[in-house]
Amino acid sequence: MNEIVNPESLLGAKEAGAKESGAKSEGVTETFFGGCPHDCPDTCSMLFDVKDGQLQGVRGNPDHPMTRGGLCVKLKDYEKRHYHPDRLLHPMKRVGPKGSKQFERISWDEALDTIVARWKAIIDQYGPQAIAPYSYLGNQGLVHGLNGGDAFFNRLGATVTERTFCGEGSCTAWLLTVGPTAGLDPDSYIHSKYIVIWACNSVSTNLHHWAIVKDAQKRGAKVVVIDAYASRTAKGADWHIAPKPGTDGALAMALINAIIAQGLVDQDYVDNYTVGFEALKERARTRTPEWAEGITGVPAADIRTLARELATAQPAAIRMGVALERHYGGGQTIRAVTCIPALTGAWRHVGGGVTQFGVWEHPYRFDVICRPDLIPEGTRVVSNLQIGRALTGEMQLDPPIMSMMCWNSNPVTQAPETDKIVAGLMREDLFMVSAEHFISDTASYADILLPATMGAEMEDMILSWGHLYLTYNTKCAEAPGEAIPNNEIFRRLAARLGFEEENFKWTDSECLEHYVDWSSPACEGIDLAYMREHGFARLKVGTPDDRAPHRAGNFPTPTGKCMLKVEGATNFVAPPFRQMYEGFQPGEALDPLPDYLGPRESHANDPELAARYPLNIVSPKSHYFLNSCYANMEDKQRGQGEQFVMISEADAEARGIRDGDRVQVANDRGAFKGVARITDDVRAGIVVATLGYWRQLNEGTVNSISSGAFTDMGHAPSFSDNLVEVSRAN
Ligand code: SF4
Repeated sequence: MNEIVNPESLLGAKEAGAKESGAKSEGVTETFFGGCPHDCPDTCSMLFDVKDGQLQGVRGNPDHPMTRGGLCVKLKDYEKRHYHPDRLLHPMKRVGPKGSKQFERISWDEALDTIVARWKAIIDQYGPQAIAPYSYLGNQGLVHGLNGGDAFFNRLGATVTERTFCGEGSCTAWLLTVGPTAGLDPDSYIHSKYIVIWACNSVSTNLHHWAIVKDAQKRGAKVVVIDAYASRTAKGADWHIAPKPGTDGALAMALINAIIAQGLVDQDYVDNYTVGFEALKERARTRTPEWAEGITGVPAADIRTLARELATAQPAAIRMGVALERHYGGGQTIRAVTCIPALTGAWRHVGGGVTQFGVWEHPYRFDVICRPDLIPEGTRVVSNLQIGRALTGEMQLDPPIMSMMCWNSNPVTQAPETDKIVAGLMREDLFMVSAEHFISDTASYADILLPATMGAEMEDMILSWGHLYLTYNTKCAEAPGEAIPNNEIFRRLAARLGFEEENFKWTDSECLEHYVDWSSPACEGIDLAYMREHGFARLKVGTPDDRAPHRAGNFPTPTGKCMLKVEGATNFVAPPFRQMYEGFQPGEALDPLPDYLGPRESHANDPELAARYPLNIVSPKSHYFLNSCYANMEDKQRGQGEQFVMISEADAEARGIRDGDRVQVANDRGAFKGVARITDDVRAGIVVATLGYWRQLNEGTVNSISSGAFTDMGHAPSFSDNLVEVSRAN
């Protein structure tokens, strides 16, 4: 292996964004620490091999306990993404009709001057709230990622946008029940004797955790996957349980019922470390396995068996996937599942409990990153999930949104109600700015395109929501063309707008000094210099072999206990997903207890709709794409194949569909096309189509049919709460 270079010496350039050569020695390949910046819980520690300022290749860091030297199929040739011939290299302005992808090269000065002039004119006429930011986790860096532009837009006085694509309803439910704890460490699953992976296709989306699960399985652990279809992960399990989409909450409530009814409660744990057991017991009394069988399709006997094994095969672990929240009752489902380890006492054990997001114990200083103190009082909030409604006027916003800046996000493929989004982006009077790597489906509609840097071209630390390590990323390769980091874009805009706050002048390195609470106990012995030298650091929150954070309660809730019942709770979105703004939280009263809330679009709830659109669609992530990233790269397209629609033999036969036929999937919101794949992996009544395919390369996208309606908590998306019909396409 090449010697790993400490990048300290490379960080002398005071003007961030200035071109520095990553390689110190001409013609010599050197190795630098990187961090995978993508929206993935694994946040792999990487090694960048760089020669003459060019990224030659990437490898997983063999020293990282979770990465273990391996990268997934998406990232294993990351350098190809850096130097893809379609990479956006220069600022551009639109010279053809919106969406036509006709652009002309301009200078950075012209691009930024145009943006500032247009924004000043909009602010003069409509006020700053007529401008809206739009970003998500296309990059997970603390500096250049999700919250990277928040301070800038908060200072501007723009509309605050909620970004609740993935896990935010789960966050609300989790925080209400157990508080901001990282819960069960994903690394500790090696000690688990029973592992339930619930609504997560780990093989495609949490690969390195799956490796730990498989190791535990080899050591005798039983692995159960609960998912509506036979995913790659379900096929590797000892037991696949397949509830109907959106009915997981009924299964969870029946598990609670069966644990109590079978006398499997750890009463000592419940008495000492929980609040509300008697009320939950009463709520669960009628949620029997037989009741749940009628809703979920899972046999009552299986539910009883699962309850018994979960309670007795300790340490028992539950890994909740983000898909668990994606139907109307998703928040209540997460609450119910989160109660289970407290009932069984699984928290007593290393390797027992439940995993949501590790991020809650990472010492990130979101207030410093986002500067919510700069938000003008009364600033409104608009959801990223409903941006189509906002842009088209359906929301009747006053002032209307007259400009949107999009970075780290591609709503045309990833947000629901695609047709409305496209209609909104086609508005001639909307001034649209995109910072991007490629001319994505969304960037196609931009008036100004800004070329952004990629992984090895910028310094950052990568936020992790799926493990308990800090991850450093070295700026070690030269950016092609004129690409600059996202944070440099905001620095330059801030300077042009006369923002005097010191944070707008910090270099990326200075941002990192401020964005992490290095003095927190979790960072004992760790500072930025350590990160540069080692690439990653395990937080001081216990080791995988001894961590049992709730062995004796110690839940970071107001009572210090697990809240099986929460009196007076109201709905909210966790602040990091709304620029740390506390204004205009949803605020509606929540049921004090968990329960089952059925899907909004279902045969039971809306028979008229179901008569026209009888099939539930589930839209998991594609194995070779990362959300919509990589879906424009030929080798990933070859691996993934064209957009397919998994359908049961019975449903296909009823519609005269043969394997390989081109089919249309439609409802009142829109349609997309794909190739029928007749399979036993889905049961009758369900179709599965993975997402991420680009609209400009396919006929429609999966989200053409998705609803922008929120679920019950945290303004989460209802991607798995949609009815459709499938027919042969002409
Ligand atoms: S996408 Fe996930 S598994 Fe793949 S390299 Fe990045 S962090 Fe690792």
